[in-house]
Amino acid sequence: LATRVAQDPAGTVIERVVDGRWEALSAGAFDAEVVAVAKGLVALGVEPGDPVGIMSRTRYEWTLLDFAVWAAGAVPVPVYETSSAEQVEWIVTDAGVRLLVAETSELAELVEKARPAAPTLGEVLSIEDGAVDRLVAAGADVDDAEIARRRALAGLDDVATIIYTSGTTGRPKGAQLTHGNFASLAANAVVAVPEVFSAGGRTLLFLPLAHVFARFIEVLAISGGTVLGHWDNLKTVTEGLGAFRPTYILAVPRVFEKVYNSAEQKAAAGGKLKIFHWATATAIAWSRAQDTGGPSFWLNVQHAVAGRLVYGKLLAALGGQARYAVSGGGPLGERLGHFFRGIGLTVLEGYGLTESTAPTSVNRPGANRIGSVGLQLPGCSARLAADGEIQLKGIQVFRGYHNNAEATAESFDDGWFRTGDLGTIDDDGFLAITGRKKEIIVTAGGKNVAPAMLEDRIRAHALVSQCVVVGDNRPFIGALITLDAEGLPGWLKMHGKPEMTPAQAKDDADVLAALDSAVTRANEAVSKAESIRKFSVLPGDLT
Ligand code: ATP
Repeated sequence: LATRVAQDPAGTVIERVVDGRWEALSAGAFDAEVVAVAKGLVALGVEPGDPVGIMSRTRYEWTLLDFAVWAAGAVPVPVYETSSAEQVEWIVTDAGVRLLVAETSELAELVEKARPAAPTLGEVLSIEDGAVDRLVAAGADVDDAEIARRRALAGLDDVATIIYTSGTTGRPKGAQLTHGNFASLAANAVVAVPEVFSAGGRTLLFLPLAHVFARFIEVLAISGGTVLGHWDNLKTVTEGLGAFRPTYILAVPRVFEKVYNSAEQKAAAGGKLKIFHWATATAIAWSRAQDTGGPSFWLNVQHAVAGRLVYGKLLAALGGQARYAVSGGGPLGERLGHFFRGIGLTVLEGYGLTESTAPTSVNRPGANRIGSVGLQLPGCSARLAADGEIQLKGIQVFRGYHNNAEATAESFDDGWFRTGDLGTIDDDGFLAITGRKKEIIVTAGGKNVAPAMLEDRIRAHALVSQCVVVGDNRPFIGALITLDAEGLPGWLKMHGKPEMTPAQAKDDADVLAALDSAVTRANEAVSKAESIRKFSVLPGDLT
């Protein structure tokens, strides 16, 4: 921020919605707000290195507080606004939170429940009850020089934030990310993907700032020269995108799925096609694609059938000038990657975790392999352990878990961070995620099956919105599928009659073959059916 203020104080860093209108904030104006709030934190007793909690949905004040806490030399600790009293108590006590700013008075009350167990906890403020004004007023007498002194104190090796990540066992662990992690990774991402992240770009922030992905982009945007738009209503994201006109979109797979599904609904509602015919055509296309060359064939058919007009409108809704989107946090799936490419929006999939300060790898406009999570960013290395686990080293890797030397030691293998994810790296260096080590299903016959592989295969089907594969003792392979498309309420229960039971499967390839046969049978049934509703069962049947 300091560099941006020095280079171009009048240039816009943030746009936010005030009384229904977009308002631009220059680097100088934003920095002045940051300093005023930082002085308030100093006045309320926050010392350099003190953890300061922020418990809120994504909104402008979060970014203001993040930078103010840093300006005061302290350490923001994000808390999801959906956290339970127990989770809040754990984070507040484990991190030793000194002061906490909650979004609402209800959340502040929830935090107060932790007070008996949290001797370090000082004031708990609420944004909607004027926390920012309160801080600015409290800091009126604090000297500017004190903020300058504290800003100069923070070194690259110092902890910038502690992010609690659930992990698979035990209590959430506080991953300590340093200023160096953020600064180096953001700078290298701008250099590696200039088409997306360089100065002049615009992005609308609607992902939760409690998660590392949005926090990283917050820092990257402000340090790299992108305008950061604050839109705090997830329900109306497409409205915000249309009004803000971002040059790139940052989202998780679920957002892309929703957009994709709504496009299909619009196609159906447009009167050009009845959803049943669309489903039938897709099912036929899918089964034909088995013989004639795979997914791109049936996607083309699907495009032709549903009509490019609708997709053109969708692209306009996505902001018109946005050519790139970055997806991370979970698997995007090849179907969505191809779909969006087909309508002119290149989705660059990346991969990372809290402990890697968000992305360690990302696809680039000139080097984008759908189905992979791209090349490592400069300064980041990845290797595969003997069991296929992805391990990381470099500028992106965190400093360790707060207060937990044992977990920290366990998470490193000879200096490489164990991600717990399984993957492959091709000859050109592209990383692909194939599963999670701890999610391996051991079949009754003792075979190891990675559910992610099966999930990818199922999700490739045009009728499937989301799926999860779980271990099951019953001797058949089936799938329960939920459909978002209008006209297809509830659940479709799909049972193939595979020739084998999981216990008979020799390896993953056998399981995939059985699944493919189940999908093909279901498609045949769909294409013959008078109405897809024949396959519907009520949600209650799921039990
Ligand atoms: P929590 O969010 O509850 O803290 P988590 O394990 O999901 O737990 P994160 O650090 O948020 O923690 O998520 C990182 C995980 O997300 C990775 O370990 C990986 O399993 C998954 N992931 C991220 N990006 C991708 C991707 N592009 N493809 C597949 N999986 C991904």
